[in-house]
Amino acid sequence: MRVVVAGAAGMIGSHMTEYLLGRGDEVVAVDSFITGRPENLAHLEGREGYTFVEADVSMALPVEGHLDAICHLASPASPADFTTMPAEILRAGSLGTFNALELARERGARLLLASTSEVYGEPMVHPQPESYWGNVNTIGPRSCYDESKRFAEAAVSSFRRSFGIDTAIARIFNTYGPRMRVDDGRVVSNFVVQALSGEPITLYGDGSQTRSFCYVDDEVAGLVALLDSDHPGPVNIGNPVEFTVRQLAELVLELTGSDVPLELRPLPEDDPTQRRPDISLARDALGWEPHTSLRDGLGPTIKYFRSELDR
Ligand code: UDP
Repeated sequence: MRVVVAGAAGMIGSHMTEYLLGRGDEVVAVDSFITGRPENLAHLEGREGYTFVEADVSMALPVEGHLDAICHLASPASPADFTTMPAEILRAGSLGTFNALELARERGARLLLASTSEVYGEPMVHPQPESYWGNVNTIGPRSCYDESKRFAEAAVSSFRRSFGIDTAIARIFNTYGPRMRVDDGRVVSNFVVQALSGEPITLYGDGSQTRSFCYVDDEVAGLVALLDSDHPGPVNIGNPVEFTVRQLAELVLELTGSDVPLELRPLPEDDPTQRRPDISLARDALGWEPHTSLRDGLGPTIKYFRSELDR
């Protein structure tokens, strides 16, 4: 296949690019480096089948030639970005999705949209199946991201219905692994970086809120399984094992051998109380499920952050 990966310099995008190249696909990697990092792709320069185009998907997707698939993974996605980059986030989900859809229509390519568990907002149904419509504050501090992705899902679904474009929607749940930004602001990178630098672990609220963490290799395998299928989604792609944020902090302390204290900070507004994917659909329709436990995935993640901090 010849595949465009928009957002290729991000954590998930770079692992996806590598995975597709590894199985013999051609990949046109696209990124604007707003949050993606050139270092995440540097090792792929010169590799057979790999080309890079620096572009902002919200402006244009300037890719020539035949295409089999387009993966739209481009967007700032950390809650820390919601206050500093709301316009970029809203544009990536709206204009970026339009540009990806237009390119898919023009080339007859399948479009995979990276949506998010954030479409469920503060979920009233637990765990969350794809049939749950969600509970989102449309004017709250997270709405730029939540509504951008909900709009993107609506655009993809409408274009599929009206213009017959081949599309797929993946709902990604908290994903972690090597190549996250040290200053990303999300919980796994914050806790690991704090533990390794001897700084207190910043626990928001009382740490009883839950998340379900998926290792990036599992996440990419799920996304590719969806891409290779003809399923339109939405399909939850995440790890269904749920942890409190306090349990994550304790595990990070254990695995880093650090004894820094926990420092309680106020819970951010609209921070979801619980989140866990129901992955029955992914299991049945794609034959996919994650295999990496949080303990096992944190090993290479800690190793990566250690080398980043040493640098
Ligand atoms: N969190 C925390 N300390 C941090 C960063 C995040 O306790 O330094 C909490 C946050 O309040 C949330 C959970 O960890 O309940 C996951 O936050 P993250 O920013 O990783 O992503 P989210 O799932 O909220 O999009």
